Amino acid sequence: MTNAVQLTGLTQPELVLFLETMGEPAYRGRQLFAALQHRRLRSFDDITDLPKDLRSRLAGVAQAATLKVESTYLSSDGTRRYLMKTHDGLPVETVFIPEERRDTICFSSQSGCPLQCTFCLTAQLGLLRSLTAGEIVEQIQIALNDAYGTGVKPPRGTNLVAMGAGEPLLNLDQLLKALRVMADPQGLHIVPNRVTVSTAGVVPRILDLANTSDRPHLAISFAAPTDELRDVLMPINKKWPLEELLGACKVFEKTLKPGERLTFEYVMLDGVNDSEEHARQLANLLNRHNIRSKVNLIPHNPADPLPYRPSSDAVVERFKNILESKGVHTYVRRPRGRDIFAACGQLAARQTHLILASKLLLSELTK
Ligand code: SAH
Repeated sequence: MTNAVQLTGLTQPELVLFLETMGEPAYRGRQLFAALQHRRLRSFDDITDLPKDLRSRLAGVAQAATLKVESTYLSSDGTRRYLMKTHDGLPVETVFIPEERRDTICFSSQSGCPLQCTFCLTAQLGLLRSLTAGEIVEQIQIALNDAYGTGVKPPRGTNLVAMGAGEPLLNLDQLLKALRVMADPQGLHIVPNRVTVSTAGVVPRILDLANTSDRPHLAISFAAPTDELRDVLMPINKKWPLEELLGACKVFEKTLKPGERLTFEYVMLDGVNDSEEHARQLANLLNRHNIRSKVNLIPHNPADPLPYRPSSDAVVERFKNILESKGVHTYVRRPRGRDIFAACGQLAARQTHLILASKLLLSELTK
């Protein structure tokens, strides 16, 4: 059913309008929105408060769900990774990370990714396609239903991070649409203030985001303090080099709310970008632009075909100390779900599938 309307990507007013075009009163639209977005029901058959005849008419023209879960992986630290497939057979990955006081869901904005960051496994897939708003919303519904049961209210708050596969700012319209759908108090009720979008540095879209009301928080993937090194690690830097990127961050800074900071993520690659000199260069660069920000150091998550190793704890600590001594707020991000390929930069459905399959085969053969 390729022409079917994907209902999970519609806001409540749009859904009301859609049902009105089917000759239904507005309250039916509101009822359907609550069923899909608040009760997180994924099949018309389950929406038993709608008349049977309406349900079968809906099934003829629309879809309540399009993503299918292919596999679920559970990490020893409680992190869960979902490998899903779109209706056209493309991989989508989502990670659910339980934390003491809240849960974080890391979702994908694209299947694959067009950027070619050398330290990220997803890059090896290339871009398969951008995801629709409905496909973004569904990832959150699937993760919450699996963690707590269909429609059960999560016991803790939910934070969202657009740090799965893809470059969210190359799919900004659908991303913002998904955020509008999810913010509805009669639906998932996850407001943009609970959402962080991470970008490799798509400068014009950073400026667009700065002009968006009710925008999510922003994180920038930095990875290197000089153009020379960043050109190699993140080729997008050749298009929008550091001065332009930091210029856009400066514009964005003007829209920060009290207490809000811009986040700079810095993946730590052993012997590549983790020296004392790199730390000093990074601190000087950030101080020169004087942006209200913090730095998150992310030890590299290794994955077979990637030519890097994570920096040691001692090196990460030294890097952090240098940044802090120069007044830069710095945090070290603890990796989650590494054992199931759920950590940053490890999402690349096809490859990890193969890796896991071959591991399994090996253990079978050596039994
Ligand atoms: N395209 C977006 C969002 C996805 S990446 C972006 O680039 O920001 C999310 C974060 O994971 C980025 O900060 C990226 O630098 C980091 N990352 C990518 N590969 C990694 C790896 N192998 N180990 C640790 N972090 C990685």
